[in-house]
Amino acid sequence: MNAPDHKQLEKQRLEANKLEKRLCRLAGQAIADFNMIESGDRVMVCLSGGKDSYGLLDVLLKLRARAPVDFEIVAVNLDQKHPGYPAHVLPEYLKSLGIPFRIVEQDTYSVVKRLIPEGKTMCSLCSRLRRGVLYRLAGELGATRIALGHHRDDILETFFLNLFFGGKLKAMPPKLGSDDGRHVVIRPLAYVKESDLARYAEVRAFPIIPCDLCGSQDHLQRKQVKQLLRLWEKEFPGRVETVFNSLQRVVPSHLLDRQLFDFPAVAAGGGATAEGDKVFDIEDFYSTATFPLRDAVELK
Ligand code: SF4
Repeated sequence: MNAPDHKQLEKQRLEANKLEKRLCRLAGQAIADFNMIESGDRVMVCLSGGKDSYGLLDVLLKLRARAPVDFEIVAVNLDQKHPGYPAHVLPEYLKSLGIPFRIVEQDTYSVVKRLIPEGKTMCSLCSRLRRGVLYRLAGELGATRIALGHHRDDILETFFLNLFFGGKLKAMPPKLGSDDGRHVVIRPLAYVKESDLARYAEVRAFPIIPCDLCGSQDHLQRKQVKQLLRLWEKEFPGRVETVFNSLQRVVPSHLLDRQLFDFPAVAAGGGATAEGDKVFDIEDFYSTATFPLRDAVELK
């Protein structure tokens, strides 16, 4: 294969520059929209060695350098003692960045192996154990925020998993209180596409640690949902964005959850209400759909 010529290199440089700007803009927007980070916060960035958490740390460091708010970053990694885990990779990387970090060694791998029968998915127990260690660590470090590298596609996958298999209209929050009530967990990459993070990891040559060291397989249902989203991206450009946008425009009065909306209190009041149903009108999906019309809801 021939070496890339000057023009190609320049094009790659411009694309990489655009990608970095897009990631920073989207993360900055999510941080602002959900008030994720405030002045004086100490943000504990959880690194797994995967592309998403490397991207998260990189983007947060860039944002901090130019943000009007002053906040601290401390990177952490939990070495769960998976056989073959290259324990030197993250410390070396973090040292090269010159930022504060903490590596915690805790053999959750053996615990999971002992408790989960062979062939069963280990992820749920593994992540619960990991969460406990990280919360403890956040307390020790005085972290006011715990930042995780989940992105837009994680949020959508969780949404569809809940919809298809869990019977709930529920995704993954961009900001939430930890279950012990002591910390605030944030997901600054909530607006960022996974494919952008994958590309960014290539561009920045992050020293990725493979995520299949534990030998656990992705859950079958999650795989199915991933495939579905990938197919939609390919066949119906814009559909995934439309679904994601819909998570930000919820109309509780038009769902059926009695906890969210006081249906018994609905009464004729003599005036128009903004969300009042135009009962006999047909919803105009055509003007708002960003995916091909042939695939929009058939209006008869
Ligand atoms: S893939 Fe492995 S390391 Fe990751 S959560 Fe599942 S069991 Fe744990």
